[in-house]
Amino acid sequence: MAARVLDGTAVAQQIRGEVAPAVRAFTGRAGRPPGLGIVLVGDDPASEIYVRNKLKSAADAGLRADLHRLPAAAPLDDLLGLVEQLNRSEPHDGILVQSPLPAAMGADAERRVFDAIRADKDVDGLHPLNVGLLVQNRAALASCTPSGIIELLERSQVAIAGARAVVIGRSDIVGKPMALLLLHRHATVTICHSRTADLPAVARTADILVSAIGRAAFVTRDFIKPGAAVVDVGTTQVTDRAVVERLFAAGSKRRDAFEKRGALVVGDVHPEVGEVAGALSPVPGGVGPLTIAMLLKNTVAAAVARAG
Ligand code: NAP
Repeated sequence: MAARVLDGTAVAQQIRGEVAPAVRAFTGRAGRPPGLGIVLVGDDPASEIYVRNKLKSAADAGLRADLHRLPAAAPLDDLLGLVEQLNRSEPHDGILVQSPLPAAMGADAERRVFDAIRADKDVDGLHPLNVGLLVQNRAALASCTPSGIIELLERSQVAIAGARAVVIGRSDIVGKPMALLLLHRHATVTICHSRTADLPAVARTADILVSAIGRAAFVTRDFIKPGAAVVDVGTTQVTDRAVVERLFAAGSKRRDAFEKRGALVVGDVHPEVGEVAGALSPVPGGVGPLTIAMLLKNTVAAAVARAG
C-alpha cells in the first residue's frame, strides 16, 4: 500500500491520554467520577462487542460506566422509562442507547428514544437541540464518529480548509454531522447517498473522501482522486469465503484472520484504494477506536458542563 496510514488507534490513544487528567480533575472536584449509562436492548452480537469495548474503555479511563439491559422483546415504554430514570440520575452525566434497536420496537423507536435523552447528557449528539447547535457551529456534544474523524484528519496534518470533501452516506449519526463538521472547518462539502448519480465521478472530485455506507469494498480505485485522503467508516461482517479471497491475498494478515474466525470485518473501501490514495484510514484500526475515545471525551465534557 502506497498511501500513508491515518492511524486511528494512535490518535485515539492520544485523545485518551488527554482525557485522563480531565477525569482526575473532575473526580477530585466533584467527589465522584464522570458517569456514563449505557443501555443495550436485545442481544445483537455486534452491539454486545461494541458495548463491552465502551464499558472497558470507560473503566480504564477512570469513568464510572454501567450497563442497563432490556430484553429484545421489551416494549418501547420500558426503554423510555429507563432513559427517564437515567435523565434524573445525578451520577450519570452521559447516556448512550446502543443502536440499532430491535425492529419490533417500531420504526420511529430510535427517534423517540434519542429525543427523550436529556440534551446535556446526550453524549452521542443525536438530540435535536444538539443537532441544531451543530448546524450553527456551536455544539458542545457532537456525534462521536465524525468528531473522531476530524481529530484524525487534523492531528494527521490533512488540510481541511479549502479542500473539496465528499461524504458518502447521509445518516443522522455519521454522514450529516460529518459533512457539517467538515463545512465548519471550511471544506467545500458534497454529501452523496444511494440516489447520487455517477457516484464514482463525484467521489473523484474529493481531496477528502469519507465513506460511511456499510457495503464491503464498495469504494474502488475509480472513486479516488490520486493523492486524496480517504477515511473508511463502513464496517461489514463478511462470511463469504469467495468475497474474502477476492479482496485479500493468501498469506496476508487479513486472510489469516478470516481463516481463524470464519468471518472478517471489512470496510467500505477496497484494498486497491491504498495504491491510489495519498492517505487512508483503514478498517480495522481507523475510525472504531476514535469513536470510543470521543465518547469518553464527550462524557467528561458533559460532566464538566453539568457541574457548572
Ligand atoms: P446507515 O444509517 O445505514 O446509512 C448508510 C448510508 O449509506 C445511507 O445514507 C445510504 O443512502 C448510503 N448508501 C447505502 N448504499 C449506498 C450506495 N450503494 N451508494 C451510495 N450510498 C449508499 O449507516 P450509518 O449508521 O451511517 O453507518 C454507516 C457504516 O459505518 C456502517 O457500516 C456502520 O457499521 C459503520 N459505522 C462504524 C462506526 C465505527 O465506529 N467504526 C461508527 C458508526 C458507523 P440512503 O440515505 O440513500 O439510503
